Amino acid sequence: MSEIHGLATHAAGAQLLPYKYDPGELKPTDVEIKISHCGVCHSDVHLIDNDWGVSKYPFIPGHEIVGTIIAVGDSVKDRLVGERVGVGWQADSCGYCEWCRQGDEHLCAQGQPTCVGRNGGYADRIRVNSRFAIPVPEALDSENVAPLLCGGITVYSPLRNHGIRPSSRVGIIGIGGLGHMGVQFARAFGAEVTAFSTSKDKEEEARQLGAHHFINTRDTGALKKVAGAFDFLLSTVSADQDWSAYVNALRPKGIVCVVGASPSPMQIQAFSLISGQKAVSGSPTGSPRDLHEMLDVAARHNIKAITERFAMAKANEAVAKVKKNQVRYRAVLAN
Ligand code: NAP
Ligand code: ZN
Repeated sequence: MSEIHGLATHAAGAQLLPYKYDPGELKPTDVEIKISHCGVCHSDVHLIDNDWGVSKYPFIPGHEIVGTIIAVGDSVKDRLVGERVGVGWQADSCGYCEWCRQGDEHLCAQGQPTCVGRNGGYADRIRVNSRFAIPVPEALDSENVAPLLCGGITVYSPLRNHGIRPSSRVGIIGIGGLGHMGVQFARAFGAEVTAFSTSKDKEEEARQLGAHHFINTRDTGALKKVAGAFDFLLSTVSADQDWSAYVNALRPKGIVCVVGASPSPMQIQAFSLISGQKAVSGSPTGSPRDLHEMLDVAARHNIKAITERFAMAKANEAVAKVKKNQVRYRAVLAN
């Protein structure tokens, strides 16, 4: 097979530059995908900047991939050449540990992220284990569905796994790539939805996406006014937050769930959790089973990302715009 061409970062925070690598022989369990679109998740930005100390350079970012299968390994039985598929944060797992056996491959200790220690989707092609190439329902457009593969599943899974239902009062904190999909999914689960945002100008769109209420978190005192109001708060913010104010905004038995990678340790008084029997949790992307289900739900409930398209060669512009919180709401690179 020929070399794969993409855009790689060669040092922390550096610009993406054209880069190619030889993928070698196609593994029997892998499929090769010709990439049409790849979303720009804020996690790519964290990886480019080595915020998590795990980046090894050079590497090609990108883990919200949509494309068409152009080759399948000898033992692949579940996918076909010509199928349109999506790939998210994970590209492989061991397949036999306790977590893989119960369908929680995203918790596998041997799990391989698509663009950590491997090259991701800001490229013309990619290879992944066939179990992580998820068929995309026909009703969904490639550009709008790409962001669902990481951002969408990351908000869908915790809503599903925490049993969100019509009686739930849900808040989505941060209306960016993840958050604007979180509002749509929370609404589809039937909840009463509140959007928390630092950007006043997002109010109208947040309401159109399904939010019943909008709280501008730049207003001092806004969080105090909603003390004791929520069953479930999902933080998609990449910056530090006033966590005690959010715990205070929970009803008894409420949960603050973090998916956004805030950098500092969370400061929360033990007693503020104890008294209302409250909890703080975290959630990593989601399993292939949940990815299949989430795409099906998105197709049936008309949930999609609002995108801003960039040519693949303009990936640096897209990354710069994500850093400035100027994208409405997800940058997608197109080949
Ligand atoms: P994004 O598109 O940049 O959106 C983040 C949003 O957070 C912004 O649009 C903004 O919303 C809000 N925000 C940004 N800076 C803020 C600040 N200083 N204070 C308060 N709010 C701020 O990013 P994303 O792609 O949605 O990703 C969000 C986070 O989730 C990142 O840390 C990413 O690494 C993480 N992530 C985690 C997982 C997982 O598996 N757990 C998966 C994917 C991504 P407003 O303008 O509405 O305030
Ligand atoms: Zn991501």
